Amino acid sequence: MTARLLDGTAMAARIRAELLPSVQAFTTREGRPPGLGIVLVGEDPASEIYVRNKLRSAAETGLRADLERLPETASLAELLAVVERLNGSDAHDGILVQSPLPDAMGPDAERRVFDAIDPTKDVDGLHPVNVGTLVQNRALLVACTPSGVLELLERSGICIAGARAVVIGRSDIVGKPMALLLLHRHATVTICHSRTTDLPKVAAEADILVVAIGRAAFVTPEFVKRGATVVDVGANRLTDRAAVERVFGPGSKGRLTFETRGSVLVGDVHPSVADVAGALTPVPGGVGPLTIVMLLKNTLRAAEARAYGTA
Ligand code: NAP
Repeated sequence: MTARLLDGTAMAARIRAELLPSVQAFTTREGRPPGLGIVLVGEDPASEIYVRNKLRSAAETGLRADLERLPETASLAELLAVVERLNGSDAHDGILVQSPLPDAMGPDAERRVFDAIDPTKDVDGLHPVNVGTLVQNRALLVACTPSGVLELLERSGICIAGARAVVIGRSDIVGKPMALLLLHRHATVTICHSRTTDLPKVAAEADILVVAIGRAAFVTPEFVKRGATVVDVGANRLTDRAAVERVFGPGSKGRLTFETRGSVLVGDVHPSVADVAGALTPVPGGVGPLTIVMLLKNTLRAAEARAYGTA
């Protein structure tokens, strides 16, 4: 069996095209486009790429997106001041502070920054108000990656209601909101984490398996029920030849990418899972593009809610 690939790139392009008329209508009515303020602290190379992609995608969809940069040495107080300015800005409907923040800002910096963002502009869905409304199934702004996964499942015709869903990973940004979204769509949900005993056995009960752990190729075929839908949220960059050779066979696309670029992106799911799963998201080109498009959708939603008082 070779799994059906769930193409996130094509789906993201379709969703972006669907957003265009609403973005244009908002811009005509309000005399300004929906606006997104992105804050980047320091020069983490992965964050630079994520932010560049978000800015490009926003521009292509007709949104205004402004990048506010702070140096690696910036203090938490300086960052909070930028957030406060964006909270008060009429031109910005959404605020995204790119994580991770520099370690020097302290262990609770992210929490304090996310808490400081006006919940009506919290396009990452991490403010406690938005997390609370998600628990109650009435959220306007939900974390982008799990919302993207949900879109991908629904638009691919994967049946969620009544399905056994297993989410591996319990982070605030992916695992927990993912589990809640699946629960609200009437799946029977199990959340697994690093202390779960007999993880492969629990995972293999899933009709829908979502993996978000940050461990390259960790999930192997023994974790997967034949025919299950597997969503690979992981995005791990491999630069070590031995590690690459453990994951990708000779002549494979992954090996070729590594030979040309010196690194290759791999998910949390081993490529051999394609022999067992019924459907599988590729890495790259699966969940990643949908995460970005959901950020644009959330910005439009936030803009409409602020301007018209509706979603
Ligand atoms: P995170 O905050 O580090 O959380 C990782 C979770 O995985 C934790 O709950 C941890 O369990 C669990 N875990 C770690 N090792 C495990 C193991 N051996 N067995 C079972 N569970 C294990 O990570 P995250 O922010 O959720 O991100 C997860 C992955 O998704 C990363 O690769 C990240 O790069 C990727 N990601 C991709 C996108 C995208 O757009 N494609 C967006 C966000 C994240 P404990 O809680 O017990 O420690």
